Amino acid sequence: MYLFIHRKDLRSHDLRAFDYLRKRDEAGIHLLIIDPSLTRGERLNSHSGRNFLEQTAALIQSYAEAGKELHVLHGDPEAIVDALLAAHPIDEVVVHADYSPYSRRRDERLQQLIRARERRWMTLLDSSLADLVEFHAFARREEPYKVFTPFYRMWLSFIRQCYSPMGSTSIADLATVRDIGKSIATGFGLPEPVAERIGGTMQAGGADKSADLLESFVRERLSAYPEQRDAYGDEQTSGISRYLNTGALSARQAYEMTDGLPGSEAWVRQLAWRDFYLYQAMYHEQYFRYEHDIDLSSLSGRHFEAWASAATGIPIIDAAMTQLRRTGEMPNRLRMVTAMFLTKNLLCPFTLGEQHFRLHLSDYDNTLNRGGWLWSSSLGYDAAPYFRIMNPVLQSQRHDADGGYIRRWLPHLAHLSDKNIHLPQGNAIVDLKASRARAIEVYKTILK
Ligand SMILES: Cc1cc2nc3c(=O)[nH]c(=O)nc-3n(C[C@H](O)[C@H](O)[C@H](O)COP(=O)(O)OP(=O)(O)OC[C@H]3O[C@@H](n4cnc5c(N)ncnc54)[C@H](O)[C@@H]3O)c2cc1C
Repeated sequence: MYLFIHRKDLRSHDLRAFDYLRKRDEAGIHLLIIDPSLTRGERLNSHSGRNFLEQTAALIQSYAEAGKELHVLHGDPEAIVDALLAAHPIDEVVVHADYSPYSRRRDERLQQLIRARERRWMTLLDSSLADLVEFHAFARREEPYKVFTPFYRMWLSFIRQCYSPMGSTSIADLATVRDIGKSIATGFGLPEPVAERIGGTMQAGGADKSADLLESFVRERLSAYPEQRDAYGDEQTSGISRYLNTGALSARQAYEMTDGLPGSEAWVRQLAWRDFYLYQAMYHEQYFRYEHDIDLSSLSGRHFEAWASAATGIPIIDAAMTQLRRTGEMPNRLRMVTAMFLTKNLLCPFTLGEQHFRLHLSDYDNTLNRGGWLWSSSLGYDAAPYFRIMNPVLQSQRHDADGGYIRRWLPHLAHLSDKNIHLPQGNAIVDLKASRARAIEVYKTILK
């Protein structure tokens, strides 16, 4: 018998592990662990926490529709796996690889446990579009890539020559074990707020919406994506990140639905950025500890609260931070603009902004969020040059010419003319020109 543990792969078809498990041709336990780190403190009610549970509900539903059993338990992964190994003749534990620091630590502990119990541990790559281990061998480099453009060139060649398409196995093709024992099911039962959230989503018909979203993007917006992707209005981009990051949608499905269509080149390039950050998380240990290797003591959190609470007096910044807090969404360009503003004009360490996005983005992903923050703050390997500081007023005039985005999120400014609506208000906490000049001096010293 095998034990398969779902993690950031909340779907029931096109999983590398399912192709592998089908070959075993026997029944296994399918498990999703709700880790207490998700249910503690603010995380459960955060936009990304809610997103995760919504997609958990959709996964439970798709197992049920196929007549299969998914066990959803709450607790320490090590304790749950240990209990299952003791109670069932499991010979192999199968998971998809995850390289964020927390996942690495968790998986090291799990592996130790599984070795001690003399069972096998199998990890398979699933979340990136390219198989990044095969890609690394294909690229034949001693040093992993640090810069996007050469990575992207090689990545395109790899995808053209070695792309491995969507898997054909779905949950309907596998046999799942129904009964895991009452003591385990109740001992690791879901806490009430979690069970209620999942149940509520299911009652509201919480089926997986990712495929519909992708289809409407392909039909209605993909061809205009290269020109429209930076506009601030709703629905210029695909909106699939929240599904990609929990694995409700695979990068392969996203790629195969768009490949070769008008607009797809620019869009697939964004999927390559995603792979680039996943690759860095796999191959560069410093990726998640960059702040320990540089001296950020010249920066401070003095203005952080004003930024986070949308009280900077710079309309486009306050509008974007308001949208984020209310909805968990923020367009990519505004993530760059607000991040640069925080780290450069307000001279605040990037880690504070990174934490804030962690609690507020619906599509929060540790690896991609870190990549975006390192890039915007000119730190990390392939980042915006330190003297490139986006001017929020110009970014507002260029991508939201009639001020519609600002009016939507800051109705108290709606009366201003299309010209004035972009300008700093009387209560602006910094002068854009002076703070830009100061930031260039400070970052020159940090990066020297
Ligand atoms: C400071 C900052 C923080 C960010 N934090 C996150 C995060 O926590 N989670 C997250 O998914 N993305 C993050 N991004 C990247 C990007 O903003 C989002 O992926 C994008 O806005 C999602 O919208 P979409 O799905 O409509 O994207 P589309 O434009 O439709 O792109 C398709 C897919 O490509 C990938 N992608 C697009 N842009 C980027 C990018 N700049 N970097 C890496 N991958 C990209 C995403 O998987 C996205 O879903 C961050 C960017 C910045 C600058």
